[in-house]
Amino acid sequence: MKTQQTEAVESLNPFQIVQTQIENAAKIIGLDREIVEILKKPKRVMTVSFPVRMDDGSIQVFEGYRSQHNDAIGPTKGGIRFHPDVTRDEVIALSMWMTFKCGVVNLPYGGGKGGVICDPRTMSKGEIERVSRRFIEAISDIVGPDKDIPAPDVYTNPQIMGWMMDTYSRIKGAFNPGVITGKPPIIGGSKGRNEATARGCVFTIAEAMKDIGKELEGATVAIQGFGNAGRVAADLLAEQGCKIVAVSDSKGALYNPDGLDLDDVKELKDTSAILNYDSSFHLKNPDELLELDVDILVPAALENVITLKNAHRVKANIIAEAANGPTTPDADKILYEKGILVIPDILANAGGVTVSYFEWVQNLMNYYWSEEEVNEKLKSAMETSYHAVSNLAQKYSIDFRTAAYVVSLKRIAEAMKARGWV
Ligand code: NAD
Repeated sequence: MKTQQTEAVESLNPFQIVQTQIENAAKIIGLDREIVEILKKPKRVMTVSFPVRMDDGSIQVFEGYRSQHNDAIGPTKGGIRFHPDVTRDEVIALSMWMTFKCGVVNLPYGGGKGGVICDPRTMSKGEIERVSRRFIEAISDIVGPDKDIPAPDVYTNPQIMGWMMDTYSRIKGAFNPGVITGKPPIIGGSKGRNEATARGCVFTIAEAMKDIGKELEGATVAIQGFGNAGRVAADLLAEQGCKIVAVSDSKGALYNPDGLDLDDVKELKDTSAILNYDSSFHLKNPDELLELDVDILVPAALENVITLKNAHRVKANIIAEAANGPTTPDADKILYEKGILVIPDILANAGGVTVSYFEWVQNLMNYYWSEEEVNEKLKSAMETSYHAVSNLAQKYSIDFRTAAYVVSLKRIAEAMKARGWV
């Protein structure tokens, strides 16, 4: 009964999950209680509501949030999500994860996140543009290149970042590309940003495979989610000689132990649906994808998919969390006991914010790098961070997630002390 209650809380509340993760890591290094208490809450959360004229002439009032968790090391940074299920608690939790993600890759940022309750799938382009411009205007006092720098997240994209940069620049009366990242390249977006999350994830997978003494060539891979993160990861892993045996999206899952034809899957995804692939390779229950006997499992879709219910059936050697929050804390314990190497989200998907940081640096310098230069710098950042986490996991005999939090917490605590906060 107690276990079921724990699982119910874990599955539903990302805010409590991140607080548990902070407590777990803080215990390992005996972190001052004051620092833990500061980090368990966001510094500032702004709630805004704003009217937007819809295409039919009516006025709709939208609600949105911007959470700034901690700015000890630098301005806060994190995406803006447009989704009907956005909640204040979710935005706060996501901003906290961003603090630890920036810390683990040693970026001079704290964590931020934003969200607007809306469903872009049912809105026209013009309506989305008006919501985007109104939202950035509503939070314009608290964002800025040296305050808080948003980026894309679920259902927001480079075009939306372009509109937001334009509105912010008009309010300030000056071109301000450094206020937001993930922009179209012509107005200051970085080369390599679109592929950065998956590319960074693949760099960590390559290091993890060396750690467990396996080759990437011929390794089998299952990927849950075939969007920006999952699809690019499939391509990059296939380039490295991996065999992509399973992929899924919100409609269903495909599995061929001899390897899927990735070009076919991509074409079907673009033109109709992946389930138009040969039906003998459909998985009846898409959740079975997580339990396949593969070398590498990449959850790249949703939160809370590996839980107490299925963790004991997971057979992969390595789980690389391209998605944010796919594993619950109790499932983590089971995976660790089974000897599965979990590359945690705050490390595995940190390539996105790392190249966002590169974009911001290029905007501030007004000097732009080639894609090769961006990818080289990303590789170096991801490999250095992976080894910092891996070494610490060995030193304290702890799982990689706790180790990643420890790496991050040490940096944030040092900055808070240096600024005299504690
Ligand atoms: P996306 O919207 O481009 O793709 C999400 C994919 O997941 C889609 O293919 C969708 O069909 C699929 N999906 C939805 N429900 C599913 C289900 N029940 N089973 C299987 N697949 C399902 O989003 P994205 O940008 O690829 O983000 C995916 C995850 O990666 C999210 O957790 C996001 O927070 C995380 N992430 C993304 C980035 C980035 O730069 N894109 C950076 C860091 C973290």
